[in-house]
Amino acid sequence: MEKLIIRNDKLRPLRQRHPWIFAGAVKKRPDHPQTSIAEVCDEQGNSLAYGFYSHSDQLVCKLFHFGAFPTSGFGKTFWKNKLLEAKKLRDSLPDFEQTDTYRLCHAEADGIPGLVADVYGGSCLSIQTTAAAHLELLPLWHEIFAEMGFTSLFHRHGKETGGQWIWPHSGPLLCRENGLLFPADPESGQKTGFFIDQRDNRSIIRRFSTGKKVLNAFSYSGGFSVYAIAGGAREVVSVDISADACRLAEASVKGNFPRFQQHTCITADCFEYLRQMPQDFDLIVLDPPAFAKNRTSVDKAARGYKEINLQALRKIKSGGILASFSCSQHISRDLFQKILFAAALDAGREVNILQVLGQPADHPVSLFHPEGDYLKGLLLYVV
Ligand code: SAH
Repeated sequence: MEKLIIRNDKLRPLRQRHPWIFAGAVKKRPDHPQTSIAEVCDEQGNSLAYGFYSHSDQLVCKLFHFGAFPTSGFGKTFWKNKLLEAKKLRDSLPDFEQTDTYRLCHAEADGIPGLVADVYGGSCLSIQTTAAAHLELLPLWHEIFAEMGFTSLFHRHGKETGGQWIWPHSGPLLCRENGLLFPADPESGQKTGFFIDQRDNRSIIRRFSTGKKVLNAFSYSGGFSVYAIAGGAREVVSVDISADACRLAEASVKGNFPRFQQHTCITADCFEYLRQMPQDFDLIVLDPPAFAKNRTSVDKAARGYKEINLQALRKIKSGGILASFSCSQHISRDLFQKILFAAALDAGREVNILQVLGQPADHPVSLFHPEGDYLKGLLLYVV
């Protein structure tokens, strides 16, 4: 196997089981740039780990195995054990009786860096791969997924918008989440089809919605709107810039609450909408897309987060609840709270944190890879 030699003075993260190796730590690269799996060694040639190698990336290697080469190699048993271990965790999670849609594999946290596998409706798998090695391993992984009982499989690689059905799904795909139903479309939908990472936060919004007028800004398929109605909201407004997303949100609300008349979905830019919106919302959810796609865009992203939170804090009723999120990996919890602090100060509102929010247990975060903690949220009370 091709070797990736790490500088001895850069071994600390690896010894601390961090799964990422950046170009600056490399002493010598594999001879062949197209190498997809590399043996990672120190300068003396001692084997330390194995990882997915990517010659062209700054993040050159993502480690999936620490220590000696396993006796059975990196064949089907090796990957099946990882995926079964991931399934075991999900099967052990509480409150899943009314939920058939969850993340089966959360990349680094499940020992397969860069691979995301989401289960929709119990038997459909929507997977997203990122590394060249993933594509080589796909036939093997397909066998494993079939043995695990999945009957339809959608695959997307990297940031490409397309993707394809490996085993097509017949009929409309419905996700059941805490007894509520949502349409999902891995093919033309966003992410892998549905934002399952907000499940727990939606449940919190359900509990806070009774009798309230709710704004769901950046609503996509209307997850928060449906939960707000389930919780007894008086009126709900969903806003998304995408007309397709609005159609999904309308369908989600109609599908779950056909008799509820007080839901409106507005196709608009939330930056505009928040500036001119009415001032009678009791509860506002702000769940924008990742404004910071990389480290260099953090400042610009912070200004974006501040702007939407400033408008929401200015306009929300006294005694209102603001649930504000960032799903940018590059915005830390600390920075996110500082942004909200600055927004509250400018809005001249007194604000208390009721709860710190994050991603649900099927999106675990490895202690060795804190970067996996991407979804940050604060549930705020505006005095
Ligand atoms: N809260 C959603 C997920 C939101 S994803 C859920 O629970 O499912 C972010 C959404 O923001 C996407 O649907 C995207 O179309 C929308 N969006 C992106 N930029 C926007 C903007 N400037 N104004 C309004 N919506 C926007």
